[in-house]
Amino acid sequence: MKYVTGLHCIKCGKEYEADPERYLCDDCEDGILDVDYDYQKIMAEWSKEDLKANPDQRIWRFEPLLPIKPETEKPKLAVGDTPVYNSPVLAEEFGIKKLIIKDDGLNPTASLKDRASAMAVVKAQEADAKTVACSSTGNAASSLAGNIASMGGRMNAVIFVPDRAPAGKLAQLLIYGADVVSVKGSYEEAFYLSAEAIKKWGWYNRNAAINPYLVEGKKTVSLELAEQLEWEMPDWLVFSVGDGCTIAGAYKGLYDLKQIGFIDRIPRLLGVQAEGCAPITEAFRTGEELEVTAENTIADSIAVGKPRNWLKAVRAIRDSAGEMINVSDDQILAMMRNLGKKTGIFGEPAGVAGMAGLKKAAAEGIIKRDQSAAVVITGNGLKDVKNARRAAGNPIEVEPDLEKLTAIFVEQGVT
Ligand SMILES: *Cc1c(COP(=O)(O)O)cnc(C)c1O
Ligand SMILES: [Zn+2]
Repeated sequence: MKYVTGLHCIKCGKEYEADPERYLCDDCEDGILDVDYDYQKIMAEWSKEDLKANPDQRIWRFEPLLPIKPETEKPKLAVGDTPVYNSPVLAEEFGIKKLIIKDDGLNPTASLKDRASAMAVVKAQEADAKTVACSSTGNAASSLAGNIASMGGRMNAVIFVPDRAPAGKLAQLLIYGADVVSVKGSYEEAFYLSAEAIKKWGWYNRNAAINPYLVEGKKTVSLELAEQLEWEMPDWLVFSVGDGCTIAGAYKGLYDLKQIGFIDRIPRLLGVQAEGCAPITEAFRTGEELEVTAENTIADSIAVGKPRNWLKAVRAIRDSAGEMINVSDDQILAMMRNLGKKTGIFGEPAGVAGMAGLKKAAAEGIIKRDQSAAVVITGNGLKDVKNARRAAGNPIEVEPDLEKLTAIFVEQGVT
C-alpha cells in the first residue's frame, strides 16, 4: 500500500480512502472504483533492475504496483509466471507478422482468475475476514477455493454457482473444500443471492467486478507479459471478455507500466465476446449504455449477460485505440482443436475465444499483415471436457485385431 494514494469512482471521479472493504461509489449506480498510485514515487524507488533481481516469480514480485500491505500473508499457491510461446505456425496461418501466446491456463487452479483470487485472500485478511464469498460461473470460484485452501484451513470459501457450471470446475470447488451452493438459476440470480448472503453474514466479497482490488490482481497478467517480452510490446493484445474485469485489468497494468516508464507504448486491445452473449461489444459499438442480453454460448466463463465492469472495459479498449469482435461457438470449438493440434495448448472455450477473435480480426483486416499480436489463453481445457470432446470428436474404434486396424488406417490414410 506504500504507493497507493486512494480510490476514485470511474463515473463521477469522487475519491475514497483505500479501505479493503470499500467496493463501490456511494453516489453512483454501478460506481466502480479504480485504485490510484503515486507513479512519481514508484519511479524514484523501483526500477527494472530491482524487478529482475527479485527472486519471487509469483505475482507478488510486482508489489510496488499492487494495493497490498507487504506484511500480509500471501496464499501459498504459486500464482503467475505462466509461460509465453512464439507461434510462427499460427502467425502464418492467420496472416500476421508475429504471434505470442501466454498460457494462463497453467496457473495453479488452471485459469487467469487465480491472479484475482490470490489478491482476494490478501485483502480479506487485511479486512480481518476469515470467510470469503463469491458468485461465479466457475473459474473465479474454483480459484478462490484453491487459494483459500492453500492457507491451510485458516480461511473458508463460500461459493455460489449457477447450475450450468461445467463438471470440472464444480469438482475443483468440492475438492478444495469450499462450501458450495449451486443456485437453480442464472449467473445473475446466483450473483444477487450471494450479495444478500454477504451482507447478512459480513463475509469478504470476491465478486470481481465490484471489488476494485481484484482488477489489480488481474493486471499482473500484463505486467508479467511485458516483463517476459523484455518490455517490447506487440501491436495488439487480445483477451476474451465476460464481465470486463480481465481486459480492464490488463489495460491498467499497461497504463501503470507506461506511467513509470517501463514501456513506451500501450498495445491496442482486442476484446472478444461470444456471438450469443455480446453486450459489451454492443455498448462499445453504439457508445450507449449497456443493454442486458441473453447468455447463449458454450463459453461459460464469458457468458455474462449483465456484465458489471463493462464501462471500465469499454474505456480501456477505447483508450488503447482498440477494437471488439464477436465469435461464434463453432469458431471457438474449431479454435480449441486448431490450437491444441498446432501448439499443444489446451484451452477451455472462453480460454481460446480470444484466439478465435484474433484469427477473425486478422481475416477482416483489423489486424494487419505487418502487425504483431499477443493473446492470453485464460483457462485450461480440462475444466470443460464435455465441450473439448465436442470440438475434437471421437477416437478410432477397433477390435483388438491388427488386420482390422490396418483396414481402417488404409481407409483413413493414417501412416
Ligand atoms: C473470467 C474469464 C474470462 C473473462 O474475464 P472477465 O473479467 O469476466 O471479462 C475469460 N476467460 C476465462 C477462462 C475466464 O475464467
Ligand atoms: Zn461516483
